[in-house]
Amino acid sequence: MQRFNNLIGGVSTPPVSGQWMPSLDPYKNENWCEIPDSGPADVDKAVAAARQAFESPAWAGLSATARGALLRRMGDLITENAQRLAELEVRDNGKLLNEMLLQLRTIPQWFYYYAGLADKVEGAVLPIDKADQFVYTSWEPLGVVAAITAWNSPLLLLTWKIAPGLAAGNTFVVKPSEFTSTSTLAFAELFEQAGFPPGVVNVVCGTGQRTGAPLVAHPDVAKVAFTGSDGAGKAINQAAAGMLKKVTLELGGKSPNIVFADADLDAALAGVASGIFAAAGQTCIAGSRLLLQRSVHDQFLEKLRNMMQGVRIGDPFDPETQIGPIANRPQYDKVLTCINEAREEGAEVFWGGKALEHPSGGLFVEPTIFTAVDNASVLAQREVFGPVLAVIPFEDEAEAVQIANGSRYGLAAGVWTQDMPRAFRMSKALQAGTVWINTYRAVNFMAPFGGYKDSGLGRENGQEMIKAYLQPKTVWINNSTQPPGNPFVMRLN
Ligand code: NAD
Repeated sequence: MQRFNNLIGGVSTPPVSGQWMPSLDPYKNENWCEIPDSGPADVDKAVAAARQAFESPAWAGLSATARGALLRRMGDLITENAQRLAELEVRDNGKLLNEMLLQLRTIPQWFYYYAGLADKVEGAVLPIDKADQFVYTSWEPLGVVAAITAWNSPLLLLTWKIAPGLAAGNTFVVKPSEFTSTSTLAFAELFEQAGFPPGVVNVVCGTGQRTGAPLVAHPDVAKVAFTGSDGAGKAINQAAAGMLKKVTLELGGKSPNIVFADADLDAALAGVASGIFAAAGQTCIAGSRLLLQRSVHDQFLEKLRNMMQGVRIGDPFDPETQIGPIANRPQYDKVLTCINEAREEGAEVFWGGKALEHPSGGLFVEPTIFTAVDNASVLAQREVFGPVLAVIPFEDEAEAVQIANGSRYGLAAGVWTQDMPRAFRMSKALQAGTVWINTYRAVNFMAPFGGYKDSGLGRENGQEMIKAYLQPKTVWINNSTQPPGNPFVMRLN
């Protein structure tokens, strides 16, 4: 079985413990490779390499323009390696090759965008009221950043952190999900090919507890950039707060997809499917609550039934496949548990509702639709992270807003209507970091992304977010030739 190593200081490095753990191909339900089962000693090595690189003239001495040039070269290399990287992702997480290839072919745009921004972060000369003082600000990198990612889109989620973070001049220790580490290892090797000095990007593989937690707690880590569940995010935030580390958290959601009677129902149907059945529902922005206006409730459900009858479930490598397997065994078990609990709670199964036996033996769950769901129920409140849709009827706009906002999450929301004043009102009323009007599951490097409430802390993407990887410094230069004033009184003006 193929065996992968950590990448530390530019060197392929076996785990200190000499222990590896298997990585599963969820389509075949069999282990296909082994990744390092790292621990604190590996974390120490990786952070030391990142810190050394941060302080080295080879990295710290580069101009912002030169860092931008490296990021552009990295973007080109990702394009050249897109197929290979996408195949590794599919092997590990079972998402469709169609989607992972599209992601890999788009990821370079983030590198080009932040490459351009690298030398456009400017400080200011402050117009203070003393002619003999020269005061200016500059923006400086934070140091070593720990990037910890989830398994559903490993390289996209990493890119949202590492492209702005490197443009800003930081170095990285990446801890990918233990379920999907191989694409990150292959991706990280490209940085050195692009010309980044060794140690600027390091990868340690392992579990959240044995590898992630010591990485977060490491005194030489200045910032933690995390994507994952809100439970782990809160634990990380607590650990980081005790050491005053900077943190950005991209967490889960229970996003409402709201269909009004005046919507283009066919377009809404496609949006609803993309919200919950694309990626077998394993996306943070899953539109897992379908809010249907009562006057079109039955009509829309019939359309949904017709669509589900033709849906193609199977091999994620087959370009005809529309829904692939669940990415790993714990998640598969969780999705089935959630389905059973929803049944026990009294939700009605409209479609699917059980494991799907596939000739590959893979971890398949039937796309599942529950109707007559109460927004207060566990099904409507808990993130399933699987192909499970909760349909909740509503009467009017006010009720739609009340139901939509009746969640501890606030990552995204979709609104389907042809009434633009209503769309505008909804976009203001919804408590969500992203609101899509007549579209769903759209992201872009220019568009800030992140959550309200329990869906996160901070944002990723867009121009301003490079500052999440920088800190301002204020410099005072005294040009006075006068004798100093009273040293026991603060210089306030
Ligand atoms: P998870 O929280 O179990 O794990 C995420 C990562 O954190 C993994 O690398 C894991 O090993 C690590 N980890 C877990 N506990 C840790 C700890 N105490 N200290 C340090 N590291 C720790 O999440 P998952 O199951 O991999 O991913 C699914 C979750 O991610 C869902 O909740 C989903 O909504 C969320 N997600 C959010 C976004 C977003 O951008 N908002 C995107 C994708 C996924």
